[in-house]
Amino acid sequence: MTDFEKILKRITTPQVNPGDYAGADGLLYCGKCHTAKQFRMDAQGHLFPRPCQCEQERIDRELAEQEVRRHQQAVADLKRWGFTDPAMRKWTFANDNGKCRQMKRAHFYVEHWNIMQDENIGYLLWGSVGTGKSYFAGCIANALIEMEIPVRMTNFALILNDLTAGFEGRNDYIANLCRAPLLIIDDFGVERDTGYGLEQVYNVIDSRYRSRRPLIVTTNIPLHDLQHPQDTAHARIYDRLLEMCAPIRFSGETFRKATAQDKLARLKNLMN
Ligand SMILES: [Zn+2]
Repeated sequence: MTDFEKILKRITTPQVNPGDYAGADGLLYCGKCHTAKQFRMDAQGHLFPRPCQCEQERIDRELAEQEVRRHQQAVADLKRWGFTDPAMRKWTFANDNGKCRQMKRAHFYVEHWNIMQDENIGYLLWGSVGTGKSYFAGCIANALIEMEIPVRMTNFALILNDLTAGFEGRNDYIANLCRAPLLIIDDFGVERDTGYGLEQVYNVIDSRYRSRRPLIVTTNIPLHDLQHPQDTAHARIYDRLLEMCAPIRFSGETFRKATAQDKLARLKNLMN
C-alpha cells in the first residue's frame, strides 16, 4: 500500500465497536443507537464513515464543554485586567441586595449596550458616599465582561499615581485606557487637586472624549457644583463629563447605614 492508500483506508474505515452490525443497505450500524456509521459518497458506492447519533451527541457535548471552559477563561482574564480591586468581581446583578432603586438603569445600560457604544453615551452617577454608585457601575462592568466585552474600572488616585511627572509611557498609558470599549472612573473628584493633577485628569477625560467611546463616572460632587465650576481648569473637565455622561442621582438611605441597621437588628434578635 502506498502512503496515500494508507491514509485513504484510515479515513474510509469506520471505528467498529462490539454490537455494531451491517444493515440491509450494506452500511455499518451502531449497536447502541441503531443509526448508520457510514454513508455512500458517490455513484460508485464508496463508503465513508460518519458519526452515528450517539457519537455525534458525544462530540457536541465535548464541543459545548470546551466552549464553556474557553468562555470562563476569557471572562476571568478580562476581570483580572479590568478591575483594580478583586472585590469588584463580585459586584454583580446576581449579588445585588435590591435596595438600590436606580438599579434598573444599570440593566437598561447593559441591555442597550450597542446603542450606548454607537452613540457614545455614559452615566454620571452622583450622590453622597455609600449610596451604591460604585456597586451600580461594577454591575454594568461585570455584565458586559460576561459578554466578553473589555471594561476597565479604575480611579484617578491610581491613574495619577501611575502618571507621575517624568513617566515616559504617559501617552501609551492613556491610549490604553481609551482603548477599552467602556471606561469606568470610580470616585471622581477625591484625587489631589493640584495643577499637575488637574492637567492629567483633563488629558484622560479629553482623550476618552476624542476616542468617541463611552465613559461612566461615579462622584460625590453634587451635579450643581459640576454645572457651576469654580474656575476654568475645572470647567473644561466638567464640561466634557457632562457632554459624555447622563447624570443619575443617587440619594436616600445609604447602603452602609442599612447594613449597620441590619446588623443591629440581628444583634437584637440574638440577645432576645
Ligand atoms: Zn451510536
